[in-house]
Amino acid sequence: MRRCLKIPGLTTHLNTGIFLYPAYYFVFISIIRAWGIDYTPGAVDLVISYLAFIVGSDLPDIDHKDAPMRFFAQVLLLPLIFTKILDLLVKHLFRYVAIFMPDHLAFTVLLTLAVAIAFLILKSITALMKHRGFFHSISFALIYGALLYFFGTSLLHNHLLRLLFISIGGTCGVIVHLLLDTRGKVWKMKLW
Ligand SMILES: [Zn+2]
Repeated sequence: MRRCLKIPGLTTHLNTGIFLYPAYYFVFISIIRAWGIDYTPGAVDLVISYLAFIVGSDLPDIDHKDAPMRFFAQVLLLPLIFTKILDLLVKHLFRYVAIFMPDHLAFTVLLTLAVAIAFLILKSITALMKHRGFFHSISFALIYGALLYFFGTSLLHNHLLRLLFISIGGTCGVIVHLLLDTRGKVWKMKLW
């Protein structure tokens, strides 16, 4: 009989993330205190860094076809794509479709079409992802942190320590996932 090693699932990753978040907080604050910097995260920073850490702790499984994280990501990314497609459809097709029906119905038809096209695009992109490929690598952990930093700059008024607390939290969340998947064998973690 073939031996089947069970990979950690969503709940294992999330539970580990939840309980390791305080450890991340402790290490981050200890390091900056050692540098003589005084920063205590407020409730908003705690919530955002917690979410960045927790999402990071399951995000790599976006490349697994049965992972709930892939489904959530598809659902959340859908409007980013369908709004762009809808703009194009409304610009080029609305006047033709509206000849045959009321405006709001014509808009609903185009909206349905835009959602369907966006859904197919996302499905096709995610179908090309290789499980435990790039998304399960240290490079991805760093890119995720960099994206959080980039998108957080205006939200957090360019405050360096708040941005670092949140973006490094995201990166650490992904690293926790990688460590769990490799069962703590650090040397098995992929660079890219
Ligand atoms: Zn994984």
